[in-house]
Amino acid sequence: MVMSRCNSLAALSCIRPISSGKSFEGRPIPAYLITDFDRFHLSKVRILVLAGQHGSEPNPVWSAVSLMRKLASGNNRNLLRRCLFVVVPVANPDGFERRSRENAQGLDINRDWKNFRTLEARFVDSLIEKWKPHILIDLHEWTAVDSSNANEIELPWITTPSRRWLVQDFVRPVASQLGISVAQSSESSNLALFHRHYTTRGFTAFLVETRAGVDPAKKRRLYEDLILAVAHRASYSDCITDISPSARGFYISTVRSYLQPPVTESDDGWTGQLLLLIGAVFCILVYAARWSEGDTSPSPERNVLLVMSLIRCNPRKGRTSSYSTIVHLILEYRRHSCVYIDHLSAR
Ligand SMILES: [Zn+2]
Repeated sequence: MVMSRCNSLAALSCIRPISSGKSFEGRPIPAYLITDFDRFHLSKVRILVLAGQHGSEPNPVWSAVSLMRKLASGNNRNLLRRCLFVVVPVANPDGFERRSRENAQGLDINRDWKNFRTLEARFVDSLIEKWKPHILIDLHEWTAVDSSNANEIELPWITTPSRRWLVQDFVRPVASQLGISVAQSSESSNLALFHRHYTTRGFTAFLVETRAGVDPAKKRRLYEDLILAVAHRASYSDCITDISPSARGFYISTVRSYLQPPVTESDDGWTGQLLLLIGAVFCILVYAARWSEGDTSPSPERNVLLVMSLIRCNPRKGRTSSYSTIVHLILEYRRHSCVYIDHLSAR
């Protein structure tokens, strides 16, 4: 049922399935990329939404599916120009099938982010390694057997000024606007939980819980409103890469392979060659300027390869898009002093 709904959504133009994982019993763990695929944009804010770690908590799962539909509805076109969502609607399909908290091995996936004994956690970890999200949001709900019962966000502990900024100016206003309380974990908390584990790795991650016994439609709206509000705020923030330093090691070729149409023969025309030359000269000049300041990284070869690969991946868009790619490249340099790439053989 969840899978058929997801599959029908995947036909929409701004949703693309990305390689599924496999659960312990071999069920697919679906994952989707949601963005405006026509806008190539190196500094899109990347947000991962994870739901269904606990199979006994159905509302986060249905909410993630409904969020996908809402994002694709056309009303969020502007947001999708600035954000790229990676959505894992049901991380524990075996548990969801049985309505059990644990996976088919009897393991609680949200206590497995230290040892990675479950295939489910390993799959989500591979997505995070690949997509380096700026923000990770893990959706849960309290059930009748839990001792706590409140709409709540659990934020990571404060270690740096940027994290303090995150808590005070970023998540807190959104939470108070939606009537959600904010709790803070500490470094002595159990680090085998998803959001705490990724906090230790330098990501910005938080967990959302909703009250038991509330109308499911209201709950689902709350998750969606929260995610959309966070995404809006993040996409207008200049500090987004500061709050999640790990998100910087992001490989352009990954996003390129999803956001760009395939290469065609027309790519080898003279305009492409000319732009390639301009890009190469630009990279060498930037490198020379940095080298004269005593900074020898990243290497000029890498920069040149980046320009080549970016230009070559834009064939159908023609000259305009190749120019805009160079503009984005320059902006990326200005923001981070470097850009990250795979090598061309990855194509
Ligand atoms: Zn849970």
